[in-house]
Amino acid sequence: MNVHISIKNVGVRYEKTAAVNNVSLDIPRGAATVIVGESGCGKSTLLRVVAGLQKPTVGEVKIFGDKTKIAFMPQTYGLMPWQTARENILLPRRLGKGLGFWRKDKLSAADEERFNDLLQKLGIAEITERYPRELSGGQKQRVALARVFFARLPILLMDEPFSALDAITREEIGRVFGALRKKVGMTTLLVTHDVNEALTLADEIVIMKKDSQKGGQIFTVLDGAADFGETGRETPEFFGKANKIRRILAEIAEK
Ligand code: ADP
Ligand code: MG
Repeated sequence: MNVHISIKNVGVRYEKTAAVNNVSLDIPRGAATVIVGESGCGKSTLLRVVAGLQKPTVGEVKIFGDKTKIAFMPQTYGLMPWQTARENILLPRRLGKGLGFWRKDKLSAADEERFNDLLQKLGIAEITERYPRELSGGQKQRVALARVFFARLPILLMDEPFSALDAITREEIGRVFGALRKKVGMTTLLVTHDVNEALTLADEIVIMKKDSQKGGQIFTVLDGAADFGETGRETPEFFGKANKIRRILAEIAEK
């Protein structure tokens, strides 16, 4: 396996809480790994550690390649309130070019086209000049998605990226994401608590078990169904897999 991200014996404790306990996981280059698990099992904490935004209490994360080439979409979107949607989406690119927060940047014709196409597909073409406070939750989430999608960095970390979208939009955007991954092949680590979504997007599914005493741990790792394709999602095999994951989640739920 060509490992891109290696998580080794990572544990995280906050002052009063054990959040993550002894998590080890290798993520292959170009693969999509999806983490599921009940609220509070440490998913967001683990993702922040992988993003390099938080130091683990023990253990380490190794990125094989450029550590600065990581796109991270936090659960709270991370939009800058003083920037318009357009500025927010282009922020990583500006920072990447060392242009800082305030200098303007002009896109090439090709990038402008890619930018407009992406906004069209995400359904936010009309709101690019608005500030985050002028957007609904779902629109903010789509702006945050546009930001990490447009950046096209080799590693993509997303924390419940579709949670504020209605079912139809969610599927449409899932397809935009699928097409982008096919084209660019970013190594992806994504957190969700939607089982069908997890299966659809994942090459591999990691089920985490909450433990308030010791911190959340990996319970098991299963094959996803990213390779099933659109029609494969209507098959008994897909439903079988989904049911199995639901059963496990119900069994390991903290009492
Ligand atoms: P999940 O994303 O799976 O819901 P989190 O990683 O957000 O889980 O949280 C795991 C545990 O750590 C929870 O008990 C949560 O209350 C706690 N926690 C998360 N962030 C902090 C923080 N910044 N300070 C203290 N405790 C935290
Ligand atoms: Mg979370």
